[in-house]
Amino acid sequence: MPEDSNQTHLYTYKCSLLFCLNLPNVELYRIKTFLFSGEHNENLRMKEVIEFRIKKKYIHLLSQPHNGRDNGMVYVVKLTKDEPNFEQIRLLDKQIRERDNEFFFLYSNIERKYSKNEFETASLFQMKIKTMFEPAGEECGTLYDETTSCEICGANRKQIGLLKLKKSTIPKKDIAVTIAGEIIVSEIFKKALEKRNLKGLELLPVEFDKGTSDYSQLVATSEIELSQSTIAGINLFDLSVSSEGEIYKCPKGHTIGLNLLSEAYVINSPSINESDFLVSKQKIGVKRGLLRPEPIYFCSQTFRKMVVDEKLSGFEFEIANIE
Ligand SMILES: [Zn+2]
Repeated sequence: MPEDSNQTHLYTYKCSLLFCLNLPNVELYRIKTFLFSGEHNENLRMKEVIEFRIKKKYIHLLSQPHNGRDNGMVYVVKLTKDEPNFEQIRLLDKQIRERDNEFFFLYSNIERKYSKNEFETASLFQMKIKTMFEPAGEECGTLYDETTSCEICGANRKQIGLLKLKKSTIPKKDIAVTIAGEIIVSEIFKKALEKRNLKGLELLPVEFDKGTSDYSQLVATSEIELSQSTIAGINLFDLSVSSEGEIYKCPKGHTIGLNLLSEAYVINSPSINESDFLVSKQKIGVKRGLLRPEPIYFCSQTFRKMVVDEKLSGFEFEIANIE
């Protein structure tokens, strides 16, 4: 239990939130660990900054001063979990949903900042792709076998043949992903890879609507399991596993939630040491239009160093935890 009064208030608050969730003990334990991380760990190794995009008509409801930036449509507020406004945003979101059937904030995102030393010493990373584009492969003639996909969550359809994309919409980055989760990498990435003997990945040709393609589709060949410590949900205040007819946590275990909210935690396996690129067996997201549940991608220190040394663009890394 924290000692000062603000922290006590926060603690009580979070406990009441957990109580309301009415979850089994195991679930409660891992969510509690997640919510309270940062308060009980004095040697916090990483700093989390949460971004909320709050509707302009509601921003005045925040009673504490905030650093919100008006971007025309919404206020962009960035804060840490231990600031009082964090709990107030949760409260206001709940109240406004109940009262007006509206959302207090339209979007939230978690950014994690690491020290150079943390990055240098980590052995596994979550590889994130910063640039997303469309049209997706399916809109450009890429074929999929949907009979292999789960009837509940839509995960695990099988791509048939080459990925087809529209040349004029390809971002000028060394890595990018379509809204349907198809990953492409540049010729520069391919050459950087050829200089090294990285394992666990395959590059397949990409077909453009016109001209020749100098991009490749990046495919992982090694799979790892996410552990129970990985938290996914709609957002930090809403860990619902379904909503409005959509299933975010598949009873068959294919998907674990709509958005990844914690760092990624994986179960230790020999393939971590044997591969430089890996994909999670369990997926995040939902089948909605062209969207499909997508795996989390992981890479080795060697892979990350290649990206840094070769100044490859479009990548972002978080440290992944092995359990
Ligand atoms: Zn499923």
